[in-house]
This record gives sequence, C-alpha cells and structure tokens, in this order.
Amino acid sequence: MPKIKIDREKCKGCLLCVSVCSKNMIMADGELNKRGVKPVVFKDTGVCIGCAMCAVICPDCCIEVWK
Ligand code: SF4
Ligand code: SF4
Repeated sequence: MPKIKIDREKCKGCLLCVSVCSKNMIMADGELNKRGVKPVVFKDTGVCIGCAMCAVICPDCCIEVWK
C-alpha cells in the first residue's frame, strides 16, 4: 500500500496538501511543531493511491511518497 511521510517540523500548516488529497488522507494536527504552527499528519486508513499530488503541491517539500 502506498504511504506518505510528512516532515512535521518543516511543515508550515498551509493545508494545500489537504486540499488536493482526493482520499482525505491528510489532516491538521492538534499539536504545535517547533515552528509554532499546527502541522499536518497522515491518516493511514489504507486508501492512499500514491498519486503524489500532496508532495507536488507542497511549497516546502515536506512530503515523501512511498509506493
Ligand atoms: S499520495 Fe495522493 S492519495 Fe496519498 S496522501 Fe498524497 S494526495 Fe492523498
Ligand atoms: S502543503 Fe506542505 S507545508 Fe503545507 S500543510 Fe501540507 S505538508 Fe505542510
């Protein structure tokens, strides 16, 4: 199953990746990171299709996709 890995400390919480994930696999976290923003987390519900849209749209290259 494809998965993604998010660099939680690098993430600035812009939510662009959330907006492009057709499978709703990414959500805002409730905890602040070291930058003082709420990063996103991967909800591994097993339906990620590895499309990499989240990684492509991330302006800070915080997401890696594993197929
Ligand atoms: S690779 Fe595609 S399906 Fe998987 S989390 Fe990213 S946008 Fe969503
Ligand atoms: S697009 Fe990148 S910086 Fe923005 S919330 Fe997603 S992982 Fe974080």
